[in-house]
Amino acid sequence: MATETTAATVAAAPRRNGGRILEAAEVVKHFGGIFAVDGTSLDVREGSITALIGPNGAGKTTFFNVITGFYRPDGGAASFAGSPILGRAPHAIARMGMVRTFQITKALARMPVIDNMMLAAPDQPGERIVGLLTRPGASRRREKEIRGQAMELLSVFNLEPLADEYAGTLSGGQRKLLELARALMTRPRMLLLDEPMAGINPTLGRRLLDHMQRLRAEEGVTFLFIEHDMEVVMNHADRVIVMAEGRVIADGTPEKVRTDRRVIDAYLGSGTVREAGAPEGGADGL
Ligand code: ATP
Repeated sequence: MATETTAATVAAAPRRNGGRILEAAEVVKHFGGIFAVDGTSLDVREGSITALIGPNGAGKTTFFNVITGFYRPDGGAASFAGSPILGRAPHAIARMGMVRTFQITKALARMPVIDNMMLAAPDQPGERIVGLLTRPGASRRREKEIRGQAMELLSVFNLEPLADEYAGTLSGGQRKLLELARALMTRPRMLLLDEPMAGINPTLGRRLLDHMQRLRAEEGVTFLFIEHDMEVVMNHADRVIVMAEGRVIADGTPEKVRTDRRVIDAYLGSGTVREAGAPEGGADGL
């Protein structure tokens, strides 16, 4: 039987590219005449918590969709842990260890929360009918182990009491946490999050951020997250990459990016924030 390459086994691979786990060069994606991603080049260092920010319509989500295989690129190159990824299928990229969160589909909504979690595990025994028949003891042990991991993750996000509820009955915020917990079941080497804090109450948001820090510290997981909440970005990212009009316009520490004239201009031009000194938000809100 072929050995399945999980995120955990990939994590044992030696560091390459000076610790840059994701490298993207001149990535292009257009929709008709709209160049949503217009030559984006960036890299993400392994073990970092990197924020991807930019005004509405900057191309952040499209960039995520291209590098995770959901959109076919129109140009450029990208690699994850030294292997080319652009144009590969989403499941192949996820199996390499770069995982993004997925919305709970209608089918998953009709299943209990615990089943949603267990299905997300890379080698859950249900997948291996032959193993189930020939090695029932091993399958049961694996199932128990997966259930344990699932319950542990659910407890991180306060979802443990809802384990037997149908996922469809969860609130919007709880669903988002379940999506994140499902992604973590795959034991990713790098996790991409699109506005993880949106729609989540502040206490759970705090737990989510703490959990990210813990995963990075204990397992070296890399995070790239799109976020509009500048307080979260400034306090929790160790690096910030700024996109505007499909391109990277700034890249550096939160302090450096915050005062970058191009960044302030891009946000002011987009109408996302008010002028510095205005009653709320303002360029200072960056
Ligand atoms: P936001 O912060 O508002 O989510 P974003 O930076 O993630 O914005 P994208 O959602 O990637 O930006 O959109 C970039 C541009 O591409 C926008 O002009 C958007 O309208 C356009 N766009 C995105 N997806 C599609 C699509 N499937 N078809 C056509 N145009 C699209």
